[in-house]
Amino acid sequence: ELILAIESSCDETSVAVIQDGAIILSNIVASQIKSHQRFGGVVPEVASRHHVEEVTTCIQEALLEANVTPQDLTAVAVTQGPGLVGALLIGITAAKAFAWAHQLPLIPVNHMAGHIYAARFVEPLTFPLMALLVSGGHTELVYMKEAGSYEIIGETRDDAAGEAYDKVGRVLGLSYPSGKEIDQMAHLGKESYPFPRAMIKEDHFDFSFSGLKSAFINLVHNAAQKGEVLDANDLATSFQASVVEVLVNKTIRACRQYPVAQLVVAGGVAANQGLREALIPHMQEACPNTRVIFPPLALCGDNAAMIGAAAHVELQKNHLADWELNAVPSLAFKRKDNEV
Ligand code: ATP
Ligand code: MG
Ligand code: FE
Repeated sequence: ELILAIESSCDETSVAVIQDGAIILSNIVASQIKSHQRFGGVVPEVASRHHVEEVTTCIQEALLEANVTPQDLTAVAVTQGPGLVGALLIGITAAKAFAWAHQLPLIPVNHMAGHIYAARFVEPLTFPLMALLVSGGHTELVYMKEAGSYEIIGETRDDAAGEAYDKVGRVLGLSYPSGKEIDQMAHLGKESYPFPRAMIKEDHFDFSFSGLKSAFINLVHNAAQKGEVLDANDLATSFQASVVEVLVNKTIRACRQYPVAQLVVAGGVAANQGLREALIPHMQEACPNTRVIFPPLALCGDNAAMIGAAAHVELQKNHLADWELNAVPSLAFKRKDNEV
């Protein structure tokens, strides 16, 4: 089985060819970061235009690198949402056109399911499974009873973890996105500022990062007004300590309440070294029977390989789209019934 997968939900145009949901034959990623950096964030209209320019070339390159022809393919998969509506529509239109031209079935994929399935390239997913999804737009704990089933047991009530990284990075004068750079700086400083750990003691699995972000920004601005300059590395260390402690604490609590075979940490922030260093030993101690899986670093951010891996499961369940397939910018998993 060979799936051509297309991802265009945000600022990466990506096309991959995936064999049996598990082997990457090609994974072309065209990043637009440079075009968005001078605006300090992703500009939706600029993103759409780049996707239009890139998508056809990416499809050709993905086929070429995989050394397959359209006739070899089993299906075409595409990200349906969540994401920017204009960006999603470019991928969906390209996928429809390609599927129509080559008479292939079309598989719609949830971008966040894709992030989870990036872990499939490390080892097969086994259930029940807990996913900690930490990305630019999402921070959620997702319980998977079985393949293809997604239930949110907790999520951020305001900013996503990646968003908080990017916003405090801006105050430090770092270029967008700043998560990786703050992670590196955090390893050079010492924890010197007592930032809040929002809702860490509370008996639910929701998160909040806007208070931390405001505390960080206020501290830096107040110091600047007094003519003081704070050590940027110490700020990064203190900020990251707060984010990591909250994520580790809530994740362990979730895995205790819902015993799982695997914990998958996914999304752009899953690349965070501080998170990896803290979560693995703490999980080993608290939940020794749960395997902790982080996707390969290169597959934590947006890419089409993860969409192809998630699509494999959808294809097995015969979850196909018709030619009416539309983008769903706010596509979301459902909240688990007994969680409020
Ligand atoms: P979503 O997946 O929620 O729709 P997105 O696709 O924009 O949002 P991703 O591409 O999954 O998000 O992740 C990008 C985010 O990951 C950015 O906020 C970026 O700063 C953050 N990030 C990347 N590397 C690291 C790191 N090492 N530490 C912390 N954050 C990181
Ligand atoms: Mg991105
Ligand atoms: Fe993403």
